[in-house]
Amino acid sequence: MALRESEAIVLRTYPMREADLLVTLFTRLEGKVRGVARSAKKSKRRFGGALEPLTHVRAYYDVRERQELVRIDACEVLESPLASEISYPRAVALGHIAELLDELLPDHESNDAIFRLTLSVLHVLTGPEIWMPVTYFALWVTRLVGFLPELSGCVVCGRSLNGSRAYFHALADGLMCVDDKRPASSEISNESRTLAAHMFRAPVETFAAVQWPKSRCADLRKFLIQTLQRHIEKKLVTAGMLERVS
Ligand SMILES: [Zn+2]
Repeated sequence: MALRESEAIVLRTYPMREADLLVTLFTRLEGKVRGVARSAKKSKRRFGGALEPLTHVRAYYDVRERQELVRIDACEVLESPLASEISYPRAVALGHIAELLDELLPDHESNDAIFRLTLSVLHVLTGPEIWMPVTYFALWVTRLVGFLPELSGCVVCGRSLNGSRAYFHALADGLMCVDDKRPASSEISNESRTLAAHMFRAPVETFAAVQWPKSRCADLRKFLIQTLQRHIEKKLVTAGMLERVS
């Protein structure tokens, strides 16, 4: 048995028998880890408030040989999403981030860039303004897991798309020019592509002062969700919920 200590972000919890919880953690040390928190529903001392999704914690856990589940001994809260008001839009946005991480991260593979991205986005996702952080996170996480295609040229003919119209399709990777677009494609505006380029050059706080209605970069978010869903070969539950948030 080996005792580990790591910063972690709680992704999901499921009730197990009696007072136990099955917990998915995104640890800084070794990536996504699943474990059992014994008597978590009763023990305020070991877990008090620390197992809410997207809580940043310091986790203590035992890894046992030939066992997939670790035993989570305790978690201390470093930062909790409950420190700010949980409105319905914010709850959906937080759930979306947790689902993306849970679906995209492989087991037992550390990823410090995604860990830092998540913390920085959570720091700005504290009020009712959800669309900028959600967009920034989706864009960056798609790139960091290696699923983001080149956005500046047509995937069919290679022509530059800078300043011209660009299209995407649920079944195709990348963007297409007006001549190569498939039937039933969606358009992604030049403004959204320009903003995406800005988001790759600046930290998330840079955009916190920008007015960001739901309509801004909606086409980019749709493109990212379609890209991710094609790669993971399943629907993201929270994508539809997010779509219905006004
Ligand atoms: Zn083309």
